[in-house]
Amino acid sequence: MAPAEDWVVRTAGDVRAEGERRHPGEAPTCASGISPSGPVHLGNLRELMVPHLVADEIRKQGAAARHILSWDDYDRLRRVPAGFSESFTEHIGRPLTAVPDPCGGHPNWAEHFKEPLRESLAHLGVLVTEISQTQMYTSGAYTEQIIIAMRRRADIGAVLAKYQTRRNTDPDDDDPGNAGTRAYYPFKPYCAVCGRDDTTVTGFDDETTEITYTCACGTRVGPVPIAEVAGKLAWKVDWPMRWAYERVTFEPAGVDHSSPGSSFTVGGELVTEIFGGEMPLHFGYSFVGTTGGSSKMSGSAGRAPTPADALEIFEPPLIRWLYARRRPEQSITLAFDAEVGRVYDEWDALSRKVADGTAEPASVAVYGRAAGTAEGALPVTPRPLPFRTLASVADITAGHQDQILRILRDLTAADPVASLDEVRPRLDCAQAWVAGYMDPADRTQVRPEPDTARLAALSEEERGALKLLTERMGDYWSLNGLTTLLYGIPKLMRGLPIDAPRSPELSAAQRIWFILLYQLLIGKDTGPRLPTLLLALGQDRIRYLVTAVLYRSVLDSSVIYSRAQQRSALPEGGPSPGVPPLPPLCLPLAPGPDNRPGLLDHSSAAARNRSMIRTLASKADSGMRSSVPWNMA
Ligand SMILES: [Zn+2]
Ligand SMILES: [Zn+2]
Repeated sequence: MAPAEDWVVRTAGDVRAEGERRHPGEAPTCASGISPSGPVHLGNLRELMVPHLVADEIRKQGAAARHILSWDDYDRLRRVPAGFSESFTEHIGRPLTAVPDPCGGHPNWAEHFKEPLRESLAHLGVLVTEISQTQMYTSGAYTEQIIIAMRRRADIGAVLAKYQTRRNTDPDDDDPGNAGTRAYYPFKPYCAVCGRDDTTVTGFDDETTEITYTCACGTRVGPVPIAEVAGKLAWKVDWPMRWAYERVTFEPAGVDHSSPGSSFTVGGELVTEIFGGEMPLHFGYSFVGTTGGSSKMSGSAGRAPTPADALEIFEPPLIRWLYARRRPEQSITLAFDAEVGRVYDEWDALSRKVADGTAEPASVAVYGRAAGTAEGALPVTPRPLPFRTLASVADITAGHQDQILRILRDLTAADPVASLDEVRPRLDCAQAWVAGYMDPADRTQVRPEPDTARLAALSEEERGALKLLTERMGDYWSLNGLTTLLYGIPKLMRGLPIDAPRSPELSAAQRIWFILLYQLLIGKDTGPRLPTLLLALGQDRIRYLVTAVLYRSVLDSSVIYSRAQQRSALPEGGPSPGVPPLPPLCLPLAPGPDNRPGLLDHSSAAARNRSMIRTLASKADSGMRSSVPWNMA
């Protein structure tokens, strides 16, 4: 089954037809399987998204489809994942549901890792029917299948032996070994005494179905009816058994599963020969990679990002889009670095094209799969302001909610944002990204004190430009107004009107002027868009930083006011000994000792390497372009 142009529609059609042929009148079953042995990462999400998109397409066509999520929670704990206590090594060999919960808040190890994925799936609109393999095995649901497999052990062993010519590299292989010999048993008991699967089956009576086994711990059990023995089928036998049991019509698998000799190939033979079922329609899907990351994903924990991590910085439809827009054989890369802003921009551009009817039909189909399911549309941000703008504001304000609202109102002066709820959840995503993923070198650190050396060395022209800014900014205090004023000051300095046309000489002067402002305000040559930055800082702060000497008296009164204000937020007794003096103004903008979040726009290394001209031009291009007429755009 080769995924073609629109692989979702094509596959949905195939699955419906095949389901009808196999079990007329019954909803076809799409299957996913996840082992909750450790954090379920974004690569595993593809195991769910591929069948989901197909099942959802069938439902959107008005037919029924079942999507099952088989939790392989009766698998043995193979190893303790990075970041978890070594004390868990004691439980290696026990079922995941028999291992204690690492946090103490869940019934067991498996549930600890199921819960976050379950929550993420709900956010993503992925509707599944969960099946716990622990529940299935321990309830005796598979007893008949286990007995069949044990009676047919020689046939199963022969099939396995056929594929064991090469060294087996299947990551899921837990074959008990000896396949093809008389001693092969496809069932592995969990020891009645120690609970581990360090067991060896020593006999099985085909007539009475009684089993005997020994364990490395010294235990000997049996003969006892196999129905009374805890244990499970070897993976390569278990999988095809479930295909038959659950009547799976479609089950894709990672490309590493579909190589010759893999569990898929072996299962394809066993499902028919032993269990009287048919192999599901299937294809391999490619890998999922990520760029960027946070401290919790590196260092000692060293874990790969999970869907919950992605949901912190991406709205759910965007994550669906990132998975839906690639064909299964294409790999997927999820950005956690500065590319996140570009992904949002692409999504917003597509949303606009879909809304005004100019998007390609293929893009419209993918957009539809991302934006909603057969159950309905996924929640969206009512006012989807550009992610980069929100990240910039979150950065400059260090997340201060009142300031964010004030700045967003100024940024949307024509139709002001009334409440931050209008820009949620996107604002929360931007704040999470700034706090957890933004390159610290890109963060905005507003100067706590004026750069007195630079101020002392100002040229006459620079001094004049700063004077113009501080005198007039009050009259231009809006995004549009400050944009006009900032570009206009070099014109005014040359005796030109503020709306004089561009010229190469003016452009050069504007660049130099902007660098001066960035230097005086945040100590760098670049930063967030200047009008946004000025609105965020407020007029007093700007005056203090660019004309410290002139405004000394204003500052002194502010100090008294702000210290009194800040003291009220401190613990009883005021500042402790050794705590540095409070910054002169009460704005939560001065950089803290914790290297707090900073800026945005051109936050990637590549962007940093661009020339100043390109950097300024990209500033003009990004963000609020549709509503803000940037002169340099
Ligand atoms: Zn837990
Ligand atoms: Zn034992």
